[in-house]
Amino acid sequence: MKMSSNPDERIIVAGGGPTGLIAALSLANQNIPVLLLEQQEAPQDHRRATTFHPPTLEYLDQLGMVDAVLDDGRVTPVWQFRDRQTGVVAEFDLGALTDETKYPYRVQCEQMELNRALYGTLEDHPNVEVRFSHQVLGAEQDADHVTVRAATSDGEESFRGRYVFGADGARSNIRRSLGVGFDGFTYDEKVVQYGTTFDVSEAMPDIAGVAYISDPDEWCVILHLPKYWRVTFSAREGESDDVAVRDDVAEARMAAFFGKSGAVVELHRNIWSIHQRVAEDFRKGRIVIGGDAAHINSPMGGMGMNSGVHDAVNFAEKMGQIWRGEAEDSVLDRYTRQRRHVALEDVRQQTIRNTKFIAEKDPAERQKSHYAMRAIADDPQKSFGFMMGSSMIAGLRAANALE
Ligand SMILES: Cc1cc2nc3c(=O)[nH]c(=O)nc-3n(C[C@H](O)[C@H](O)[C@H](O)COP(=O)(O)OP(=O)(O)OC[C@H]3O[C@@H](n4cnc5c(N)ncnc54)[C@H](O)[C@@H]3O)c2cc1C
Repeated sequence: MKMSSNPDERIIVAGGGPTGLIAALSLANQNIPVLLLEQQEAPQDHRRATTFHPPTLEYLDQLGMVDAVLDDGRVTPVWQFRDRQTGVVAEFDLGALTDETKYPYRVQCEQMELNRALYGTLEDHPNVEVRFSHQVLGAEQDADHVTVRAATSDGEESFRGRYVFGADGARSNIRRSLGVGFDGFTYDEKVVQYGTTFDVSEAMPDIAGVAYISDPDEWCVILHLPKYWRVTFSAREGESDDVAVRDDVAEARMAAFFGKSGAVVELHRNIWSIHQRVAEDFRKGRIVIGGDAAHINSPMGGMGMNSGVHDAVNFAEKMGQIWRGEAEDSVLDRYTRQRRHVALEDVRQQTIRNTKFIAEKDPAERQKSHYAMRAIADDPQKSFGFMMGSSMIAGLRAANALE
């Protein structure tokens, strides 16, 4: 491990999820010393994000990390909106985006596989120091530096650096240090996920690798990963978390949905609350936030982790300019303008629309949204525009053009 001769001359990254890890690697590759503080004892193994969109694959490619996702993931060019009773409503083939991106598909891969690969790379990186079991408590700043406090097994420790990038997740202590609001809302319903080796295509032969299935009573999202299928339902009203993830409850629900006994939930069962929130500012002075620390959204569309990665790359690029004396640190306000714009005007809109599509109960509204979705899919120009948006390409380009 190599660090600067003056240990205060570094960037502190709080949190080692995808956002923090990508920020650390992007900074370190520019020869900027990084101290990464992660509260867990080891890399997180949450089963959350699985969808990687084209711009994220391009960024991972630039960082030399795309094989970690391609090797462990399933390339998925086609995805669908479906109705539970009538089948495919609209189908989108990202092959139409070949002129726009080197990666005209989604990849379905567990985010923990990327995390593992990133930790492996950072471990050997001469510009990075990773400290596990360091829970960041908050940050203060003066004219030249930040001081980040962390709880460790030896008590509280303080670390100085030039800036801190708070990537410490939805409950971010760094965001609290900024003293900014985290406005938005939490959906009434939670989502429950079951991982199964049952071959869903036996029950639905024309299913694509990603399918959003609308139904007024039992909507569902189905994702095909390399070794299993992940099935996500809305948690039932009044059902406790413990009951929702019980083996017999999971089995009964899967069997009823797929019309087959033996819809075996052999793998994970998880339950999650779903939010739509965006921090009122992403930066004050030397304290900056990104990823779930700055914005959280419904997973319908698979955009949270992707936009965290995009935040990390954007932040690191601007920090590199500051570090090399090519830009004033006011360039970080541009980071906020660009990334907050994506969170509010793009990801939030798309994930709310997708959540409404699958969960709508009103028959007239359902018919209207299915009709609209079909009309988009049937028109090549509209379909192209829709895929540019839902693949996060258009939103990223628009945001990056903002001054
Ligand atoms: C069910 C579900 C499915 C999803 N599917 C997708 C998808 O397909 N595609 C997609 O793009 N997104 C998806 N998401 C969202 C995605 O999981 C998150 O947006 C992503 O994990 C955010 O990454 P992050 O690094 O910002 O935060 P996190 O992954 O939450 O990582 C934060 C890290 O900081 C650490 N930490 C927390 N507090 C502290 C502290 N005080 N001090 C030090 N370390 C700390 C944590 O231990 C963790 O390692 C999904 C989410 C859910 C719930």
